[in-house]
Amino acid sequence: MPNPLFDSLFGVHAGKTTPFLHLLDGSTITHQDFLEMAARTANVLAQIGLTAGDRVAAQIQKSPEALALYAACAQAGLVFLPLNTAYTVDELTYFIDNSGASLIVCDGRSKDALEPVAASLNAKIETLNPDGTGSLSARAAEMPTRFATVDRSGDDLAAFLYTSGTTGRSKGAMLTQNNLLSNAETLVGEWRFTKGDVLLHALPIFHTHGLFVATNVVLASGASMVFMPKFDLDQIIAHMPDVTAMMGVPTFYTRLLDDPRFTRELTAHMRLFVSGSAPLLAETHVQFENRTGHRILERYGMTETNMNTSNPYDGERRAGTVGFPLPGVELKITDPESGATLPPGDVGQIEVRGPNVFKGYWQMPEKTAAELRSDGFFITGDLGRIDEDGYVHIVGRNKDLIISGGYNIYPKEIELVLDDQPGVAESAVIGVPHPDFGETVLGVLVPEKDVAPDIESIHEAVKTSLARFKHPKKLIVIDELPRNTMGKVQKNILRDKFQDMFAPA
Ligand code: ATP
Ligand code: MG
Repeated sequence: MPNPLFDSLFGVHAGKTTPFLHLLDGSTITHQDFLEMAARTANVLAQIGLTAGDRVAAQIQKSPEALALYAACAQAGLVFLPLNTAYTVDELTYFIDNSGASLIVCDGRSKDALEPVAASLNAKIETLNPDGTGSLSARAAEMPTRFATVDRSGDDLAAFLYTSGTTGRSKGAMLTQNNLLSNAETLVGEWRFTKGDVLLHALPIFHTHGLFVATNVVLASGASMVFMPKFDLDQIIAHMPDVTAMMGVPTFYTRLLDDPRFTRELTAHMRLFVSGSAPLLAETHVQFENRTGHRILERYGMTETNMNTSNPYDGERRAGTVGFPLPGVELKITDPESGATLPPGDVGQIEVRGPNVFKGYWQMPEKTAAELRSDGFFITGDLGRIDEDGYVHIVGRNKDLIISGGYNIYPKEIELVLDDQPGVAESAVIGVPHPDFGETVLGVLVPEKDVAPDIESIHEAVKTSLARFKHPKKLIVIDELPRNTMGKVQKNILRDKFQDMFAPA
């Protein structure tokens, strides 16, 4: 009996002495070394008494050992549940309690605080540190380098991933082996990954982007990666000559563009730059191309579905769009009220169906039923449209839609105009309560370095570009937009902050 996820991503590399991970100290871990690390860890997990389907919650710093825990869970038929390293003990307690994990893996710092949580859940607790120390590593070192892979089917759960919590409390998305595998295999083809590729991996591995997109694509293609604990400009510049491709969130690219060492010469050999997790500004696209000659490939995905769309590898990568639905993924735009499919060009809710779509939210049957239709389409919570050439445009999140005086207003449309104004580095448009209109439009601007934008002339520019009901009632300048660890703008924080702006005195 097989275990499709383990067999296809990990087991397939058995015996290979080619590199899998290039570490910053100059050492490499081969595919076979990595499989041995995973097998040792899987032996520990089995010795602890975990059996197929149990959940392993892990809040651990990025390291080869942390990645080996993912492989070990796959091999032992366990459900891997990585947690954001920024979470506080209170937040962790909620996630661990909510998920009903049988084992908690943490670093030394949070062990004491998590012990009572583990005890109340009847869960075991082990430590794993980035320097390879901790109780789990110590036990693994004593274990055999082989492990009999536990049988699983493609429909069995492989991972349990909490959403980023950009729009509210994070939800646990249940992902099957097939969800992960189908996406990995599709992306290898779409982005032309081969075993000769070396990916620059500076993303966290507790999120779908770094784990199920970047890592799985490398595994599914037999490529290798320069494995960086975190985004570090100096390290990225230093290692750019060693890699062929890079995946990042938009802030990676803006930070690289701020650095004069990031040049055309440095990147001449590169084959691919991919961006996702948040919208890439059209201006970043242009600046990146002017600087390097490369056009960033933007794609769109989410915790619940992995990847939905991608701009084409060959062909036009259209700025401001997320490209086309991936092979096997159906995407439609529907009317939020009636659920009817809308014609091309119309804005509506984005729904997707395909082998990538998750099984549902953990312990949220009502939410699952409301968002995952019985015909398999998932209502993503994003709003978008499909243009005449089939490119998908995301116009924002359903929850960010502004309804003012009966009009639907899409923040993105206004943000695009604001972002274009002199002195404006970026903007966020939100709806705030208003006594006459229900909600009204508020524009929040971040100025370019050492510039004071001319607010009056920005109001004027907006008036010439947009219909009256879309004009921001007020423009506010702040130093920076609130972002979560994935670089996503947290509009709920802005809304809370400015909610009384137009309250009657
Ligand atoms: P939560 O669901 O808890 O509010 P979240 O939606 O931010 O958090 P993720 O699953 O990490 O959690 O993010 C998926 C979302 O990120 C998508 O629904 C979409 O809104 C946004 N996103 C991803 N890629 C892009 C992109 N290329 N352009 C615009 N938005 C994107
Ligand atoms: Mg979401």
